[in-house]
Amino acid sequence: MKFDYDLLVVGGGSGGVRAARVAASLGARVAIVEGRFWGGTCVNVGCVPKKLYVYGSHYAQSFREAEGFGWSVSDVSHEWSLLKQRKDAEISRLNGIYSRLLENSGVECYQGYARFEDPHALEVDGKVLSARYILIATGSTPVFPDIPGKEYLQSSDRLFELERKPDSAVIWGGGYIAVEFAGILAGLGIQTTLVYRGPQVLKRFDPDVSALVQKQLAEKGVVLKLEDDISNVVRADSGQHHVTLQSGEVLQVDEVFCATGRRPHTDRLNLEAVGVDTGKRGEIHVNEHYATSQPHIYAVGDVIDRVQLTPVALAEGMYVAHRLFGGQPRAVPYQLIPTAVFTQPAIGTVGLTEPEAREQGYDIDIYRATFKPLKHTLSGLEERTLVKLIVDRTTDKVLGAHMVGDEAADVIQGITIAMTAGATKADFDRTIGIHPSSAEEFVTLREPVS
Ligand code: NDP
Repeated sequence: MKFDYDLLVVGGGSGGVRAARVAASLGARVAIVEGRFWGGTCVNVGCVPKKLYVYGSHYAQSFREAEGFGWSVSDVSHEWSLLKQRKDAEISRLNGIYSRLLENSGVECYQGYARFEDPHALEVDGKVLSARYILIATGSTPVFPDIPGKEYLQSSDRLFELERKPDSAVIWGGGYIAVEFAGILAGLGIQTTLVYRGPQVLKRFDPDVSALVQKQLAEKGVVLKLEDDISNVVRADSGQHHVTLQSGEVLQVDEVFCATGRRPHTDRLNLEAVGVDTGKRGEIHVNEHYATSQPHIYAVGDVIDRVQLTPVALAEGMYVAHRLFGGQPRAVPYQLIPTAVFTQPAIGTVGLTEPEAREQGYDIDIYRATFKPLKHTLSGLEERTLVKLIVDRTTDKVLGAHMVGDEAADVIQGITIAMTAGATKADFDRTIGIHPSSAEEFVTLREPVS
């Protein structure tokens, strides 16, 4: 059979763009379809704008810290619209780079939503494109609980669209987005309340990490309503929202952000018609090579609902391109995926948490240090840094590394390399530290605490 393309990628986000470019570089004829914006969630309404807003909000604390070092910082003010404008300009620049990278690598780009016509062809804006292989990389979309007033809940996208600063906001959820947003909003001077149904936010993280982050959120002025939930939202004539909690309390706020998770985004694909199996949340089932129940249709990234992280989608996309077009596919090491949460200070983590290690039957030693970082001896702030290692007593291998502190993401990235290479605690111990730094604490943890 003759096809228009060797590979048709559906979704121009992190996983899709990477797969398309790598496949084209290996000589394949490739097209890519994107319905919304090039670069996907990460570039447009996720990782990139989020981190820019984290930087922006953190200056509030930096100004306070500076006074401890002799600076006199008075009359500081923040112009929300300028932050928004400059963020928009940067995102447009990145969109352009994404399009150019695709075009320069010979990938044909189509704007529109794709829908399967038959197992080898998709319709995009009235045009039918056929391909030998198809890769679905359509990402994920926010999930909103079904409550009265659901229509007033806003996804995380809303923060990046707001033209003016709200005075107050509620954030619903206790995961990645909820805690990152709480830090951003509180830092920018917005009265912030986080509502979470459990007793402690970030429940999948190591308990020492989530406890410290929760304490530091409260110290930074975020009001925590824990073991409570939102039962309904009403919009008042004033434009404010009245948010009723299960406890009966009513909060009056300008914005209600919902961060209760994301589900695979497969709505418009017409997958049923071509026999691609999906699970309960709509996730596309794939085998170890990312092939779906239709062997020529592949899927990677959030849409397969394994790990919703950009670098994982990139690695999965690359694997598929290499496997299909004669490269050297490298399996994704799911056991050792580092992740950061850009709270303030940030979390960096890789490997097993203490409860996971115990559940998996490891006999473990725990090494932990909590300390005031050098900067705060003069800044006067009470912020603490945490470093923690989980070590297998039998093999001496480091099973997990966790940090809360400035630059935790950067520190844990380095430690992930060591753990990927199989580092033991003895390897950490014979490593020379960098002084003075927080990272050196990872190589000076002498005695287990339990
Ligand atoms: P998460 O899965 O991290 O958190 C969802 C939160 O919502 C949890 O606290 C969960 O509670 C709560 N929740 C779920 N359903 C309900 C419900 N029906 N009612 C009340 N609460 C509910 O999702 P996010 O939306 O924060 O983020 C989505 C994904 O995006 C993340 O999992 C992550 O992979 C990715 N991401 C990564 C970032 C990074 O790398 N820094 C930043 C932002 C997002 P419970 O814990 O009790 O189940």
